[in-house]
Amino acid sequence: MKAIIVEEPGGLENLHIGEVQDPSGEVLIKVKYAGLNPIDVNTIKGKTNYKISPFPHIPGAEIAGIVKESKTNKFKPGDRVILYPRFFDNSCLYCISGKQHICENGGIYGATSNGGFSELFAGPALNFLKIPEDVDFEDAVGLPVGGLTSYHALIESNLKTGEKVLIVGASGNTGQYAVILSRIFGAEVYFVSRKKWLTEYGAIEWNGQNVDLIINSLGTDFFKNYLSYLNKGGRIVTFGTYTGKLTEIDLAFLYTGERKIIGSTGGTLKELQDLLKLVKNYKIKTKVWKHFKYTDIREALQQYDSKDGRIIIDF
Ligand SMILES: [Zn+2]
Repeated sequence: MKAIIVEEPGGLENLHIGEVQDPSGEVLIKVKYAGLNPIDVNTIKGKTNYKISPFPHIPGAEIAGIVKESKTNKFKPGDRVILYPRFFDNSCLYCISGKQHICENGGIYGATSNGGFSELFAGPALNFLKIPEDVDFEDAVGLPVGGLTSYHALIESNLKTGEKVLIVGASGNTGQYAVILSRIFGAEVYFVSRKKWLTEYGAIEWNGQNVDLIINSLGTDFFKNYLSYLNKGGRIVTFGTYTGKLTEIDLAFLYTGERKIIGSTGGTLKELQDLLKLVKNYKIKTKVWKHFKYTDIREALQQYDSKDGRIIIDF
């Protein structure tokens, strides 16, 4: 099969399209779409927080496709599925408490193991979830990384109806889902972005208002600056370091107002299942900027920072 391959760590020049052996596993799918997310961009550029393995490496954490072969009755050829992008042993203390995403022996497809930027992908049956009938591929493919990361972060932050949320980088992959899901949670949503179309999703352009929750997936440049806008009892949640991972915190401001910093990563298998139902019931649609054929992955990566909505890679 054809795959997008990172030959060795560190940069776009190490990226090429090549022929590799077809994968094998409990369930084999034909990949239709893949989302392009910061985790993929960082993996390809060698700027990641994870130990990338193996090399040569196939990136791609967020995929949707059609089942080609299944060794279990859970799936039949033709089923439309998305991949839960964390692999897990299903036996450690974290897994048995339902937190597969922080499994002691786990990892992330497309980072610590080969991912799905390829014509075919194979994995354990447990890692695949069926896409509901009336949800199309384009609305499902953003869920495993963008949707799930935001959904889990909102749950970890204990967001309540009527609270005010500030979303930094709101037009991005996680950002869009954070806006849409926060509205479903009943929150008042403020955004920081040059993209005014976010108002169509019920968000208000931020103008220095204090808030109860800040969602900051962008890292250093945006962390310190926004913390001072947090109400007493407020939370700031982070799940990304796109602009860097070190920052300075005013600890007095933090403890005197009982403010909390929350780290969040990915989400649980159950949350991804719940998210599929939410997408079906609320007809959640995000803004897709462009589709790129997988052979044009370089162009997609070059345009990543100037994108206006999500990027989808077609296989
Ligand atoms: Zn585990």
